[in-house]
Amino acid sequence: MATETAVKSTIIAVANQKGGVGKTTTTINLGAALAELGKRVLLLDLDPQGNASTGLGIAYDMRDATTYDLLAGEIALADAVQTTSVDNLEIVPATTDLSSADLELVDNAKRSYLLRNVLRDPKGGCDNYDYILIDCPPSLNILTVNAMVAAHSIIVPLQSEFFALEGLSQLILTVRDVRQTANPDLRIEGIALTMYDSRNNLSLQVEDDARENMGDMVFKTVIPRNVRLSEAPSFAVPVLAYDTQSKGSEAYRALAKELVDRIEKQKAA
Ligand code: ATP
Ligand code: MG
Repeated sequence: MATETAVKSTIIAVANQKGGVGKTTTTINLGAALAELGKRVLLLDLDPQGNASTGLGIAYDMRDATTYDLLAGEIALADAVQTTSVDNLEIVPATTDLSSADLELVDNAKRSYLLRNVLRDPKGGCDNYDYILIDCPPSLNILTVNAMVAAHSIIVPLQSEFFALEGLSQLILTVRDVRQTANPDLRIEGIALTMYDSRNNLSLQVEDDARENMGDMVFKTVIPRNVRLSEAPSFAVPVLAYDTQSKGSEAYRALAKELVDRIEKQKAA
């Protein structure tokens, strides 16, 4: 899209087609940690499950405007955004409506660009944010492709479990496809090891494999298995608000710092 003006905000899709690997936990808590650093952060819930919305206290009956409306071009970004209990952290929620997008969009030649059209329009309000994080569904469907086409980069949460690396090649192929067509500048920003247990040999082995195969792409920070992280969503807050001293909070703070360093180095280069 040659006529597109660069947007200042950094748009990151949090994606892995494998279910339950920590995408939503990472989106919410990395978002909260970036907000704590003073960054203005917008989360887009692009999963029909709506877990990021629920986890940040947006009850179902409060989801009048959603990411579905954004994709459908029925609403401006500014009118879809809701504040959360966390300063500097806003969200566009999702409902199950989004699951029909796959079917409804099939005939639309521009179907992969719907989110990009919203987020890469400097007049659309995206520059009110330093970071826009997109919580993707556990699939490489049109929703995830929309996120990859719209984003500058991708963070891949990788669960420190058996078979963790297996799905990665398929994800990387999809990224390659998107780079060859709609979004040549798309990068994999980093792979974040999640649910890591340093007492478990399997975690250590997954880490070794990931670092050996993916090198510096793997974030130095690992996210430990921490029960506080799994409890926080039922209190509708990020772990940083639920138990600010917990290992989970500390890990997402460290990940946010590492991410900001990476992005700032790239911008300076
Ligand atoms: P889905 O693919 O269904 O969208 P997901 O990839 O978004 O899942 P999450 O919902 O973030 O994954 O995490 C799956 C489950 O694991 C949740 O119950 C979550 O609370 C828990 N969980 C995630 N990360 C951790 C962690 N580091 N320690 C303990 N529990 C975790
Ligand atoms: Mg999720």
